[in-house]
Amino acid sequence: MTDINTLESWDRENFFHPSTHLAGFARGDVPNRVVTGGKGVYIDDMNGNTLLDAFAGLYCVNVGYGQQKVIDAISKQANELAYYHAYVGHGTEASITLSKMILDRAPAHMSKVYFGLSGSDANETNVKLVWYYNNVLGRPQKKKIISRWRGYHGSGLVTGSLTGLHLFHKQFDLPLSQVVHTEAPYYYGRQDDNMSEEEFSAHCANELEKLIEVEGADTIAAFIGEPALGTGGLIPPPKGYWEAIQKVLNKYDILLIADEVVTGFGRLGTMFGSEHYGLKPDIITIAKGLTSAYAPLSGSIVADKVWKVLEQGTDEFGAFGHGWTYSAHPIGAAAGVANLELVDELNLVANAGETGAYFKQALIEAVGSHKNVGQVRGEGLLVAVEFVEDKASRKRFDNVGALGGKLAAALLARGVISRAMPQGDILGFAPPLCISKEECDKVVSALHSAIEEILG
Ligand code: PMP
Repeated sequence: MTDINTLESWDRENFFHPSTHLAGFARGDVPNRVVTGGKGVYIDDMNGNTLLDAFAGLYCVNVGYGQQKVIDAISKQANELAYYHAYVGHGTEASITLSKMILDRAPAHMSKVYFGLSGSDANETNVKLVWYYNNVLGRPQKKKIISRWRGYHGSGLVTGSLTGLHLFHKQFDLPLSQVVHTEAPYYYGRQDDNMSEEEFSAHCANELEKLIEVEGADTIAAFIGEPALGTGGLIPPPKGYWEAIQKVLNKYDILLIADEVVTGFGRLGTMFGSEHYGLKPDIITIAKGLTSAYAPLSGSIVADKVWKVLEQGTDEFGAFGHGWTYSAHPIGAAAGVANLELVDELNLVANAGETGAYFKQALIEAVGSHKNVGQVRGEGLLVAVEFVEDKASRKRFDNVGALGGKLAAALLARGVISRAMPQGDILGFAPPLCISKEECDKVVSALHSAIEEILG
């Protein structure tokens, strides 16, 4: 086995890491971590640390690390058939079975699933689907997509445009002109102190309607949103939000894409976030929890209403001109089948709801009354603690993000991985759905002690 010092120098010399300060990493300012193993909610690194991963990798390892059932399914598939494509009617037992399992779990009006590899490529597919849909319906000008500020939908060209975070735009000349953004459903971040949650939801719907009128409803194809905001701050929607938004979308004949890359397969305590908040999407994006990241796989679940138009399109235009070499990759599909079976066997959807509620309550009791804890929020096992300089006025700290980073480092020093969310002083927790109450207690006491050290 290569020793740690050699690996570190190879790493700094050769490896172009995503979402990393490149010069800082090359200089050695940014620490490297070589991860060697994992079991349950814990990962091991090459320096001998065992860390409680309270963010499940990038909120994707939902069944936890080292699950033998998924490992065996991958191994069996690799032995039998590591690869075959899915073009022109080809499939494998795994990909066909998985498509049925997904539809069995999805809302009843959903009809078919298209497989990709990442959340980004699935959303790329979704944009093409809605463009194609409007071409078939003879509305070639109805193509713009509305996304929300603070939304996260990927980091490709169109998906990076959909992502409503400036960091993903300004370095790359984005957003593309076909993408427009509307207000984030961030009630705790509101300007007007007198608004109730319901009033704020009505205000967001109103802002959406104004945008549609300015752009022209006949130019807007779809609206994309995460049922609960993820990377933009782990923010559940205010009361009545989705009801108000869907009313506007229906009025202007605009499709709804529910990006369930994070919320799909149990994270909020329901199989899908759409179920949780009463969304009736036309397309659902899935990835992460589909395979618990044991192998890359994503999907676009298409509603019957959209599917009928896609079918009609191929009768008019010929075969559907969109495919990836690795669509429905057998190893990913085999991982997906075993993973979804395991989610059921271990009762993980219910555990996310129950243990998530316990975790949030424990956080509220342990740190909620601290002078700088503005809000503890969440749904299921998607939980955040937001820090402010002044609680009464919700005034944020000046150097936004610095405190979140310090607290995440202090938690890490106590053996717990959290995530400092990029849009504020927000610490995010999204552990594997198999986490126990005792493991949640460890996270809570580490946070309590980290806050004491940094903020007093
Ligand atoms: N949508 C959402 C809601 C996500 O959280 C992410 C990734 N964090 C993506 C899309 C993009 O997925 P990927 O990184 O697999 O491309």
